[in-house]
Amino acid sequence: MKSHDGLYIDGAWRPAAGRDVIEVVNPVDEQVIGRVPAGTAEDVDTAVRAARAALPAWAATPPAERAARLTALRDVLVARKDEIAETVTAELGAPLPFSQTVHAGVPIAVAGSYAELAATHVFEERVGNSTVHHEPVGVVGAITPWNYPLHQIVAKVAPALAAGCTIVVKPAEDTPLTAQLFAEAVHEAGVPAGVFNLVTGLGPVAGQALAEHPDVDLVSFTGSTAVGRKIGTVAGAAVKKVALELGGKSANVILPSADLAKAVNVGVANVMSNSGQTCSAWTRMLVHTDRYEEAVELAAAAAAKYGDRIGPVVSARQQARVRGYIEQGLAEGARLVVGGAEPARETGYFVSPTVFADVTPEMTIAQEEIFGPVLTILRYADEEDALRIANGTVYGLAGAVWAGDETEAVAFARRMDTGQVDINGGRFNPSAPFGGYKQSGVGRELGAHGLAEYLQTKSLQF
Ligand code: NAP
Ligand code: MG
Repeated sequence: MKSHDGLYIDGAWRPAAGRDVIEVVNPVDEQVIGRVPAGTAEDVDTAVRAARAALPAWAATPPAERAARLTALRDVLVARKDEIAETVTAELGAPLPFSQTVHAGVPIAVAGSYAELAATHVFEERVGNSTVHHEPVGVVGAITPWNYPLHQIVAKVAPALAAGCTIVVKPAEDTPLTAQLFAEAVHEAGVPAGVFNLVTGLGPVAGQALAEHPDVDLVSFTGSTAVGRKIGTVAGAAVKKVALELGGKSANVILPSADLAKAVNVGVANVMSNSGQTCSAWTRMLVHTDRYEEAVELAAAAAAKYGDRIGPVVSARQQARVRGYIEQGLAEGARLVVGGAEPARETGYFVSPTVFADVTPEMTIAQEEIFGPVLTILRYADEEDALRIANGTVYGLAGAVWAGDETEAVAFARRMDTGQVDINGGRFNPSAPFGGYKQSGVGRELGAHGLAEYLQTKSLQF
């Protein structure tokens, strides 16, 4: 795999201030596939200065020109999609077909949607005797996770550029090669120097320095609730804008009138996809008592088919964490129907696709985000009981409802405390707002709502 030994700052690859490096490991065979600089606070400061210097000119660029750069960026992502997919597969471990369709495909759609929004968004409106200008927030500090390494970056960079903001990205330490490839794409697309900057590095060092930097106007973070809480505290103290996309523990509610086999099969596929490392995964399946055993059998059969084909989880640390949750599930009395804590392979960070039945709402595996291929199946007595269980966690990122007809499913979905719900298997929409209720976050990404996060208003009265 290709790796740069520098940081992309002010339009060029530059040496880091220190000598520390991050070794990138392929989770399938545990081999080191690249080394990138571990940036420090000094590097972050250099990058933020570059972003600050580039801000006035970029903010003043006509939206049509920003749209043209985003279109060019989308086109580079299309031209290099195979390389992107191979890089994500190498450092995340995702099976190549999934990397092609999702890890490379979704960012292309998102970049395309922001090219269009930059061209069509109304950056100026009349409100009575006022003209309201929608201006860029300023310099953005973006901190991203490894689970969808390119998507998480593009979901921040594309709207920031469309809005006229400049940006410094600190990608996850586990997946910096995809981030470097993206920096190459930004460069190729002709985005002016300093508008986009990349500082690879460790969270508590480079990430923290970026979140704390006094010259960053907006911190946009995706990752764990624990780190998100820290970042929110720092941003709050400095009175700067913050957007947080955090964890989830979403419910897949199968109402009695639903097509059970379809709901269970799609539900299992949803949890196993990306080896369970999806913040919006429906990791709690809720089934009526009368159809419970039938659902458990269907889920067990569906999950058993995956074997090690789902790919490993990202790191040894993540593997240990997920296995720890499986052991805790057993200790708390849940019934293991497929999988278990023993890995599917000896080498690589594999976790067996795992299904737990007889899970009760207060169990740890029903409350905490596992971030691995582990499905919990809970039973409910009636709709009110299902709603109580669905809403009974600190999270509220996503969910699903299945029913005989859409009206019934929608009525239930409207009562869920969550940011998005798929009705009878509805498809992902890259332009619909994505974000959490409760402790799943603050703010929204994607589409026009995602763009709004990077804008602030100025009202001129006449
Ligand atoms: P994380 O530690 O929150 O990491 C997310 C990003 O924040 C990474 O770039 C990380 O850098 C950085 N970071 C870590 N500590 C920081 C600090 N003190 N200040 C500033 N930045 C910091 O999440 P993770 O360790 O990658 O994964 C742990 C859990 O997060 C998962 O199990 C899951 O629950 C959740 N998660 C959620 C999402 C989502 O989309 N909502 C995505 C991924 C993970 P390093 O990479 O160097 O640690
Ligand atoms: Mg981390």
